[in-house]
Amino acid sequence: MATRLRVVSGMRPTGKLHVGHFFGALKNWLKLQDEHECFFFSADWHALTTEYATPGEMKEAERDMVADWLALGIDPTKVVLFVQSRVKQHAELALLFGMVTPIPWLERVPTYKEQQQNLTGKDLSTYGFLGYPLLQAADVAVYRATAVPVGQDQVAHLELSREIVRRFNNLYAPEVGPKLLPEPQPLLTEHPKILGLDGRKMSKSFHNAILLGEAEESAKKRLMTAVTDPARVRRNDPGNPEVCPIFYLHKAYSPPETIAMVDRECRTAGIGCVDCKKALLVNLLPALEKHRKARAEVDQAPERIDQALEDGARRANEVAEETMRDVRRAMKLE
Ligand code: SF4
Repeated sequence: MATRLRVVSGMRPTGKLHVGHFFGALKNWLKLQDEHECFFFSADWHALTTEYATPGEMKEAERDMVADWLALGIDPTKVVLFVQSRVKQHAELALLFGMVTPIPWLERVPTYKEQQQNLTGKDLSTYGFLGYPLLQAADVAVYRATAVPVGQDQVAHLELSREIVRRFNNLYAPEVGPKLLPEPQPLLTEHPKILGLDGRKMSKSFHNAILLGEAEESAKKRLMTAVTDPARVRRNDPGNPEVCPIFYLHKAYSPPETIAMVDRECRTAGIGCVDCKKALLVNLLPALEKHRKARAEVDQAPERIDQALEDGARRANEVAEETMRDVRRAMKLE
């Protein structure tokens, strides 16, 4: 049997969940919950680093997100499911990490400059935004977790968390032997690419996403007007499925024989884009309907959400407090 790892993963509550979230993370969470000891959380403090001006909207999005998690089958009896801000030890450890982390380490994070330029209309010259990697490192270390599910492209991000933890251990627990905090390792997972309906990355802010519970009519309409391979102007032009968002949705929802057919027939103009989209709807619509039904059940019993989060916060607090007692002792604070 494979080793059971302690895994931590969070998601920012910044809007309705879409199929990109499912294939990018949640499908993997469903697998992880059966194989490892998992701590899954709503990263509300992280969301505040960019959404600090609209905290009410963020909290609404959070409830919706957790309801979707339950509807998808994330099981609070198997995982510790909680809201980050209900476990104050994350903030305490992030503060202590801040004492030992040189500012240039934070400034050189590529997403720091990138996001500041991309998210126009928001003032991101805040300490919270610069310091979020400290909180990220604390999110994992406070549970002494050893694994963080990441795609290949995010391994470099995790490196900063590892460096912070390493420096912390060297300062406060330099003796040979078990370290105060483990350095988190990447648990490499496949994050299949899902393009948005306009061909860009699927994202709520681009309005190009299919929501997990999108209504049938809306899904149909939006799909039928979605972009395809821009080079395929006429029906007879051969296409390239690799640049087409519809093909990525096929890969996520259609059976292998349909995927193979589209891959082949698109390149030879054997299939037109309208028929290709209809073939996608055959499998996409039932999947959306299944989610809407499951979600309606959760909405009928909202106490399930409260119960899950309360229970999760209690369990998360216990583990986090145990770590913090050792950390405080090592730093001569207790
Ligand atoms: S046939 Fe399908 S995969 Fe090819 S460009 Fe049209 S919609 Fe995209």
